[in-house]
Amino acid sequence: MRYVPVIGLEIHAEMLTNSKVFCGCANEFGGAQNDRVCPRCSGMPGTLPVVNQGAVTLAAKAGFALECTVNNYSAFDRKNYFYPDLPKAYQITQFQYPICTNGHIRVCDTDIRINRIHIEEDAGKLVHDDYEGISMADYNRCGVPLIEIVTEPDFRTVEQVQAFVEEIALRLKYAGVCDSRMEQGSLRVDVNISIMPEGSSEFGTRAEIKNLNSVKAIGRAIEYEIKRQAEILDKGGKVVQETRRFNDNHGDTKALRSKEEAHDYRYFPEPDIPPVYLSDEQIEQIRKSMPEPPNMRFERYTKEYGLPADDARLIVLDKDFSDFYDETVKLCPSYKQVSNLMLVELNRCLNDSGTAVCDLKFTPAALAELVKLSDAGTISKNAAKDVLRTMFETGKAAEEIAKEQNLIMSNDTGELEAIVDKVIAENADSVESYKSGNQKVFGFLMGQVIRFAGKGANMQVAKDILTKKLQ
Ligand SMILES: [Zn+2]
Repeated sequence: MRYVPVIGLEIHAEMLTNSKVFCGCANEFGGAQNDRVCPRCSGMPGTLPVVNQGAVTLAAKAGFALECTVNNYSAFDRKNYFYPDLPKAYQITQFQYPICTNGHIRVCDTDIRINRIHIEEDAGKLVHDDYEGISMADYNRCGVPLIEIVTEPDFRTVEQVQAFVEEIALRLKYAGVCDSRMEQGSLRVDVNISIMPEGSSEFGTRAEIKNLNSVKAIGRAIEYEIKRQAEILDKGGKVVQETRRFNDNHGDTKALRSKEEAHDYRYFPEPDIPPVYLSDEQIEQIRKSMPEPPNMRFERYTKEYGLPADDARLIVLDKDFSDFYDETVKLCPSYKQVSNLMLVELNRCLNDSGTAVCDLKFTPAALAELVKLSDAGTISKNAAKDVLRTMFETGKAAEEIAKEQNLIMSNDTGELEAIVDKVIAENADSVESYKSGNQKVFGFLMGQVIRFAGKGANMQVAKDILTKKLQ
């Protein structure tokens, strides 16, 4: 039988605050184990949590980035469960009154509804690998501020899920909410998936696959799960509601535990934290502080600047790169020329050297100067590429490099004419061959002209002179 998958997501994103959500410990990745822990985040009895206002603001920003309603009133609850990396034996989260609700994002021509975004604290980490037969608890991650983004089960294909996760990661990054480094676990995805016979509208029993940390793994896990559930149903069996773990090495999923329902967690209002109230003015202030989101940038690049969609997408994918582009075209609005130089030449330099845009030795203003030189015909388009490479290596100004490397195009046609005459005189055989119809020789003769004139020569003018003199 043919089946259609029904998929919903729960995405956990670590927020970029300086400190943890309920204490003053630093919110950083890496470092020595249990180095950033205090009595509050390690769950000592009698300690009191205090909400980090920065986390509240970032969660509201996430709401705007994902086109949700940011609520005036939200409140914290305790979610009770025992796990060795959660020393309090409960997690502080928002259950009944989340900070954001009712969002939607359009991907692959499908509207995906976002049910809610709520704030919660992350748990610690268990380290299983370092010691034989022993598990170690690292509490550095305890109390790191998270948002959980919960979608409706609106996905029907792997492509929709992957495009959505990429879009969310990018939007959160642009909004400054999360660095979206999936490989470091700062963005983790749980996939709820069931299948139903094609044509049916009744959802099947779902399985939840926890903690997927790459877009590729999400795709493989979903493909595997569709196959697994289809085999069970084809044999007349029933899918069990459970939580499963995806094994990246084997490409399969294994049952972890039977899926809990909300009532298993015995949620109740967190008595130690007062509700969060954001006034309309505060919410409006946060909205106004939002930078232009990547989807609007894409529109601007394609519609206003006339860039091809593929180029626009490539620029938008990296916020620093896109910021650099924007600063450059503000000073020199040769949209396509700047885009070409950055996407081809600059990207090649960055990739070859393994550096990032933030490490560049030159500014957007310096790049704008280079493009102006090329636009004015002072240097050729080809020479602009050479100059950019040297700018990348040395950080020197474009004009200085162009002079040093003799790339300033000469408008002295007399000099070029003399060179052409010399080339024609020294290559009588080739000239004869050209005149008797061998067009290919022209390239050779042009090569000779360039050899004497240098790269700074105005190629178009040289070509015109040579053509004229050969007639
Ligand atoms: Zn702490």
